[in-house]
Amino acid sequence: MLEVADLSVSYGGAVQALRKVSLQVPEHGVLTVLGSNGAGKSTLLRAVSGTLGRHGGRRDSGTITVDGAPIHKQDAASIVRTGVVQVPEGRRVFGRMTVEDNLRAGAAAARSRAAVARARERVNELFPILVSRSRQPAALLSGGEQQMLAIGRALMSDPRLLLLDEPSLGLAPMMIQRVGEIVAEIHKQGVCVVLVEQNATMALALADTAVVLDVGQVSLAGSAAALAASEQVQRLYLGHGAQAVGPEVIRPDSTDGSVGDDGRERAAGTRTLTRWQP
Ligand code: ATP
Repeated sequence: MLEVADLSVSYGGAVQALRKVSLQVPEHGVLTVLGSNGAGKSTLLRAVSGTLGRHGGRRDSGTITVDGAPIHKQDAASIVRTGVVQVPEGRRVFGRMTVEDNLRAGAAAARSRAAVARARERVNELFPILVSRSRQPAALLSGGEQQMLAIGRALMSDPRLLLLDEPSLGLAPMMIQRVGEIVAEIHKQGVCVVLVEQNATMALALADTAVVLDVGQVSLAGSAAALAASEQVQRLYLGHGAQAVGPEVIRPDSTDGSVGDDGRERAAGTRTLTRWQP
C-alpha cells in the first residue's frame, strides 16, 4: 500500500536525516520502525505525512507512493485526504479545546458525513473514556487519555494508513498495554499502521514487518519475527546480552532511578520493555 523508495531528507540543507531509505507496507500490514535516538524515525513519518516543511526539512530525492500513486509532491492536507494520517510524537492535542472539539477538528478532512458518523462510532467504541470526558478541556486528561484523544482525532478522518510516532512514550505500564491493544484493534479493523516505538517488545509483537534505521539508513529489514530473533535487535532493542556496548544497550547493573511494582529499582531503559503481553 505504501512504498518509500530511495528517500533522502535533510534539514536546513545541512543535516542529512535520511539516506536512500526504501521500505514497503503491504495492504493490511503493520510495519514497525526501530532505531536509536536521531536515527531518522520521526523524519520518515514526517516525509510520508508531508509535514517535513513545518520542521525545516525537505525531501532531496526519492519517491513515496500510496497504492501506486505518488504523494511526495502533495501538501499535508491532500495527503490526509488520500487516507494517510500521522499521530505525532508528544500527544499534541489542543489543550484548551474540549475533547469533543478536538475530535471534530480531526474530522475536518473526512470524505463525507457518513464517514464522520462511522469514524465517530469507532472512536466511541475504542475510547469510552473520551465519551465521558467529552466536554472537558483536553488539557485536563491524563497523559494516556491525551494519547487516546490524539489517536481518536486521527481516526476521525477515517484513515487507511495511520502513522504513529512513539505512542507509548512516557506512559505508565498499564497504559502502554492499553495503547498496544488499541493499535492491534485498529489494525484488525482494516487500517494499515506504521509504528515508530521505543518499546520494541510491543512494536515487534504488533507488527508483521520491521525495519531498523541507523543514522538515516535502513540497516535491517524483514519480518517482525525474524528481526525479533536477530542478534542485533535482541542486543540493542530487546535488552538481551547487556554487556555489549551501544547507544541503546541496557546494563543490568545500572538503574533509571525508578521503582517497579516489586519495590526494586528498574534497570535503565527497561521501564517499558517488560510489560507488553500480546
Ligand atoms: P528520536 O527517537 O530521538 O525522536 P528519531 O529517530 O525520530 O529520533 P529524527 O528526529 O527523525 O530521529 O532525527 C533525525 C536527524 O535529523 C537527527 O540528526 C536530528 O538531530 C535531525 N533533526 C530532526 N528534526 C530536525 C529539525 N527540525 N531541524 C534540524 N535537524 C533535525
